Amino acid sequence: MSTILIKNGTVVTLGQNNRVIHDGAVLIENTKIKQIGNSPDFTGTYDKTIDAKNKVVLPGFINAHMHFYSTMVRGLGKIEPAVDFADVLKKLWWKLDRQLILDDCYYSALIPLIDAIKKGTTTLIDHHASPFAVTGSLDKIASAVKQTGLRASLCYEVSDRDGNDIADEGIRENITFIEKCNAQNDDQFKALFGLHASFTLSDKTLRKAVDAARGLNTGFHIHVAEAASDQEHALKHFNMRVVERLHNAGILGPKTIAAHCVHIDENERSILKDTDTSVVHNPQSNINNAVGVADIIAMQKKGIRVGLGTDAMTVNMLEELRQALWIHHLAQNNPSVGFMEVMNTLTVNNARIARKYWDNGIGELKEGHAADIILMEYYPPTPFNENTFLGHLGFGLSQSIVDTTMVDGKILMENRKLDIGIDEADIAVESSKLAAKLWERF
Ligand SMILES: [Zn+2]
Repeated sequence: MSTILIKNGTVVTLGQNNRVIHDGAVLIENTKIKQIGNSPDFTGTYDKTIDAKNKVVLPGFINAHMHFYSTMVRGLGKIEPAVDFADVLKKLWWKLDRQLILDDCYYSALIPLIDAIKKGTTTLIDHHASPFAVTGSLDKIASAVKQTGLRASLCYEVSDRDGNDIADEGIRENITFIEKCNAQNDDQFKALFGLHASFTLSDKTLRKAVDAARGLNTGFHIHVAEAASDQEHALKHFNMRVVERLHNAGILGPKTIAAHCVHIDENERSILKDTDTSVVHNPQSNINNAVGVADIIAMQKKGIRVGLGTDAMTVNMLEELRQALWIHHLAQNNPSVGFMEVMNTLTVNNARIARKYWDNGIGELKEGHAADIILMEYYPPTPFNENTFLGHLGFGLSQSIVDTTMVDGKILMENRKLDIGIDEADIAVESSKLAAKLWERF
């Protein structure tokens, strides 16, 4: 048995009954939180003690929609300007993902995973595409996840854009990885069934995906009405809206993640609510692609579970949170709107989404829950308590530095020094060499 005591910190539990404990302590026994309380009450001997003075102790953050593979596009110059979102896909992402080889998949995952440790993001729900290197791609990414010690849910993005054979290969890649995860029952890895989006999926492929996933206790991870063109396509070709189509096909449900939902109507919100489907908001990506602003206020009023993702714009969940705060003010021309709805996405709903797959309590510090914990240096300039915490999170803590990151009771970074047995600089050199070759193929 190994024990770690984090003491003298300001413990913030998050969860639906968020508590702030000054001079707080968290005792970790092996992989789990054994006890939370006031520092003076912990008088035993422990294998390791971490002094969290002037630090806020929080559960690690969860990123509910991510694409590791986008890493190697950073700095790529020779991209024709896109006129709209469909053009962004054609001129950038679909050109890029067709060129990815398995080694690119590995390094492009390792880089943001290392960064996630530094930003305090301990669980990532990824969505992967490499249509000419499908088979084995999820294992490659899983090996990167394994090396970093973080948690991830992986899936392969099935679409018809590269023909039947590649769509079928994508279905097989999902099934292989889902079955492996089910057999291993390892809390480091979970699997979903990845689908690209309504406008790149035929009815036949949707049917095949639903048939293949049957009985595997999984859900789908799919982009939904990210741009208006997804709706136009569904109406033109299927005479129904995107969410209606996915519902009819059997895609929605409590384990399914519908990313974006920028262009959905009231009836579609009702379907998402009735099917208990999770929605993930990605404001930075939506701003960047100029596709619009998802009405997460209306969605939450309806009772939909709306979480926060980054769509690969960053692994820093607090940066994403801040963008979400501002964009709803601008979109609704109202500087007071949406604060609680935005805050809920990260501090409450991402944990609720994660618990559809993990049953170890991630996202909330509580006795018996997995010890996924971060420490952030912070000197509150105003009273810091349960009533003021969200203001501190949005306007102060979000500007602070993550000092220590732990997953399952294992320290991955302490005092800002990575402790995962790999050299970040070496990994970046290797990634850069591969990216240069990838850019030549682009
Ligand atoms: Zn995405």
